[in-house]
Amino acid sequence: MSETYDLLFRNVRIIDGTGAVERIGDVGVFGNRISAVGNLSSSRGTREIEGRGLVLAPGFIDVHTHDDALALDGNPMEPKLTQGVTTVVVGNCGISLAPLKPGIPLLPPLNIIGGSDEYRFPTFRSYVKALEEKPPALNVAPMVGHSTLRVAVMDRLDRAATSSEITQMEELLQEALDSGAIGFSTGLYYPPAREAPPEEVLTLLKRLALSGAIYTTHMRNEDDFLEDSLRESFDTAGAADVPLVISHHKCMGKNNHGLSMQTLKMFDEVRKKQLVGLDAYPYTAGSSALLPEMVEQCERVLITWSEPHPECNGRDLAEVAQEWDTTINDAIEHLLPAGAVYFHMAEEDVQRIISYPHTMIGSDGIPRGARPHPRLWGTFPRVLGRYARDLKLMSLENAVHKMTGLAAETFRLEDRGYVAEGKFADMVLFDPEMIDDTATYETPEMRANGIHMVVVNGTVLLEEGFILDHSPGKVLKRTSH
Ligand SMILES: [Zn+2]
Repeated sequence: MSETYDLLFRNVRIIDGTGAVERIGDVGVFGNRISAVGNLSSSRGTREIEGRGLVLAPGFIDVHTHDDALALDGNPMEPKLTQGVTTVVVGNCGISLAPLKPGIPLLPPLNIIGGSDEYRFPTFRSYVKALEEKPPALNVAPMVGHSTLRVAVMDRLDRAATSSEITQMEELLQEALDSGAIGFSTGLYYPPAREAPPEEVLTLLKRLALSGAIYTTHMRNEDDFLEDSLRESFDTAGAADVPLVISHHKCMGKNNHGLSMQTLKMFDEVRKKQLVGLDAYPYTAGSSALLPEMVEQCERVLITWSEPHPECNGRDLAEVAQEWDTTINDAIEHLLPAGAVYFHMAEEDVQRIISYPHTMIGSDGIPRGARPHPRLWGTFPRVLGRYARDLKLMSLENAVHKMTGLAAETFRLEDRGYVAEGKFADMVLFDPEMIDDTATYETPEMRANGIHMVVVNGTVLLEEGFILDHSPGKVLKRTSH
């Protein structure tokens, strides 16, 4: 049957997001959906693209981002778009821009997603509305953060919430869920939530159970008490009967290098009885707000941004302290508020975690400061180029599955994550021989190699290096179960 599609990809190597072996075929797009996959040689396209040995895959889903503010005001989201990302999940690590009344002083790490000007959404609905009024370049799946809720309702954060404060948080959480939040995140490691006991989290999680939303956590500890924290997360989510995602799974600090042998076995065990997933990024350094307790676990710390001392952006913390003739802690005091890159993982653990079949890919990129962690610009091409193609830790098909189908299933993003008839036309055309990250710690704001075209909801948004002036992104709201 002869059809005319808006976009027709001919003779492309289709990697469909399921993990299945690639196959050569044609893909036709009509409107915002993929309308046919197979042999379409008798059909035409208003726009036709020849495969030339390139791979057509589902657009990558960045399941762990801090793009809450970046997505606003129709920003082209260049660091993500140029990697082939078509959807970002925001509201991670307990921090979301909403709901928070303007004018509340921002504690770290709330300041990693934006300054006080960006925190202007007293309700979750008002944040969703702002995204819908000036649509984002990429799709945005929003979660609501526990630390944001705590900041919104508590006068002091160095204690457990009282029952009336928990009730207020439950109301705000419910408002977020009713406005389409796909999940709830905690950041129990960070000062705003450190004193929250598991019971506080559990009460809030019980709200999720009724809605079908998921729970993601930056755990209480990722170094010397890593296994305890995994158990706490499994138990809390299990007691509330909600699906869990352990964010940016890692083994931090020299004492704990190699521990992923044990932790991944813990995932194998717990997955027999409850829904538990995990994500990771392909680097041995992390990044967050500059915090003295994080510096202790590190071999090296780089300053990504400092409000009072922007001249220190990109510099080594130890060098700055030496130059100022002061202690590390004293230098930190002077640099705050600030952000940092922390070198504290072993490559062996990163490789083991990335190649674990159930691990999704999340950049954890922080779009703030002149010298961000290179993961903001390089995560997805680095997994495909370095870890799949060069180190052969997994097949290209499995690497793509981690960043597409698996992510869409886990985060319950309906009709996303696959190249298949009827799915939304979020796609990336890339060269599997050329794909690679180029962003480094020294020059982090560099586009990846090998990405030829990115399509979001049927609209071509990136083509041969050019970003086109469209905002086809949608807010991916939770659909009730
Ligand atoms: Zn985190």
